[in-house]
Amino acid sequence: MTKSTRQIQIGQVTIGGPAIAIIAGPCSIESEAQFLEAASQAKKAGAHLLRGGIYKLRTHPQSFQGLGDPALAIAESVRKKLGMPLVSEITDPRQIEGMISIIDVFQVGTRNMYNYPLLKELGKTSKPVLLKRSFSASIEEWLLAAEYIESSGNPNVILCERGIRTFERATRNTLDLSAVAFVKQHSTLPVIVDPSHATGRRDLIEPMSLAAIAAGADGLLIEMHPNAAASLSDGHQAIDGEDLARILSRVEKLGQAIDRPILRLA
Ligand code: PEP
Ligand code: MN
Repeated sequence: MTKSTRQIQIGQVTIGGPAIAIIAGPCSIESEAQFLEAASQAKKAGAHLLRGGIYKLRTHPQSFQGLGDPALAIAESVRKKLGMPLVSEITDPRQIEGMISIIDVFQVGTRNMYNYPLLKELGKTSKPVLLKRSFSASIEEWLLAAEYIESSGNPNVILCERGIRTFERATRNTLDLSAVAFVKQHSTLPVIVDPSHATGRRDLIEPMSLAAIAAGADGLLIEMHPNAAASLSDGHQAIDGEDLARILSRVEKLGQAIDRPILRLA
């Protein structure tokens, strides 16, 4: 039996309601021009929320680490220009103060799911928190991490399945869709799927987006970039605005068949 899902309100967007919410945007904010173009394409394709990394946690210390503080002003300006709520990853509790008035959802990345001091600090705010599953976390550990945020006072938690580490190397991670179905049955938290980090391959974003919705996901988080070849992070998995529009039209068709249409904003 599926439990009834808690609805999280972000401006006009509801996550966890009958309709599917779409979050899209580049892995990282690279410049005002790049973020504005990516955001415009995401909006045109039908995304409801914008994503863009200000602070990045990269495996390789020499990889692009995000623009950091200078990207806050870019984020603020693009969010305002497009009138779209913004999701961005927080990597350190000291960033709360600078981010809180600029972003609409704090993303906790896979590497920080076990960062309990960070989760507790986010629990003292009332901003929605998108909690990615650690690539090594059991479902139970993931749900307990969510409880850290909730028990600190913030019930606005959105879970995000983004793939776990297995022996398989053909894909960046292994998308665990049984976790999505399990969470829908055993938790009241909404759960979305990130097919971009789960597969690391742009050719698998469409089939895994469809499969995620069929498994019961309340939304999708998809990386896109106006010029993937020039992307400073995760270009191999980025799609463009046209790809996103095509994928969303197929998601919409599938959603109609199972009473999960894509959210329409008034
Ligand atoms: C991201 O969303 O850009 C990201 C770094 O995700 P994850 O924490 O899932 O690797
Ligand atoms: Mn990324």
